[in-house]
Amino acid sequence: MPEGHTLHRLALDLQTAFGGRVVRASSPQGRFEQSAALIDGTALVRAESAGKHLFAEFEAERVLHVHLGLIGSFDVHTGVSAVPAPVGQVRLRLTSPGAYADLRGAILCDLVTPERRDDIVARLGPDPLRSDADPMGAWRRISRSGRPIGDLLMDQEVLAGIGNVYRAEVLFRHRMHPLRPGRTLRIGQWRAMWEDLVGLMAEGVRTGTIDTVRPEHTPEAMGRPPRADDHGGEVYVYRRTGQPCLVCGTRIRTEILVGRNLFWCSRCQPRFRSRAVQ
Ligand SMILES: [Zn+2]
Repeated sequence: MPEGHTLHRLALDLQTAFGGRVVRASSPQGRFEQSAALIDGTALVRAESAGKHLFAEFEAERVLHVHLGLIGSFDVHTGVSAVPAPVGQVRLRLTSPGAYADLRGAILCDLVTPERRDDIVARLGPDPLRSDADPMGAWRRISRSGRPIGDLLMDQEVLAGIGNVYRAEVLFRHRMHPLRPGRTLRIGQWRAMWEDLVGLMAEGVRTGTIDTVRPEHTPEAMGRPPRADDHGGEVYVYRRTGQPCLVCGTRIRTEILVGRNLFWCSRCQPRFRSRAVQ
């Protein structure tokens, strides 16, 4: 599933392609035809993301709300001389001179009011990519919860935009066992993790991939082959089950928590034992 950096980048791309311009909107597949007609011929005021939600506001206070879900995509093309015929199930197509964007497979695509958008954003936890984010909003939930930190990080009402990759990687980078109860964290640990997510995710927006290894653990620095799977970026533990930890050589472990795979190194991220290790 796309994580917050993908949505943030998408909002920037939409803003660049269509911001301030009159946009033609259509639904080649037909499922979004009536709503597309309402924004057709109006200008895009601004596009933004909040966690895994995308909002594109058009004139007349019409806000396009998209959640890509597991398989959705919103492909933005700029610098085109001609707009090609739609391929596949295009739910929404936006065009303006020299640019077009196709939305496919999203679990959610709706037109909402600005008030509704604000309600949705207000129910989300802070998003490390938003300048208005308050990490203490997440800390209030984490510090009172007996749920594992690995579960809390993925709860969009606690923290918005974090998916399985950033979850696994930020826990590794902070040597924290994923099953450690939220209320056992110290505030300094949370602040450090938050700052790290802000930096990692901003880098993700810039590069389009999730790279989390420190300079001393890159393929070049370690003389190892680069990661080879569809995920792309260089990571410590995500989907590295059974492979040696880049730091200590211990085999990476996995376990399912709330339906999603956790990945961690049992040596670098020792299990939390009451107050003994505090
Ligand atoms: Zn390790």
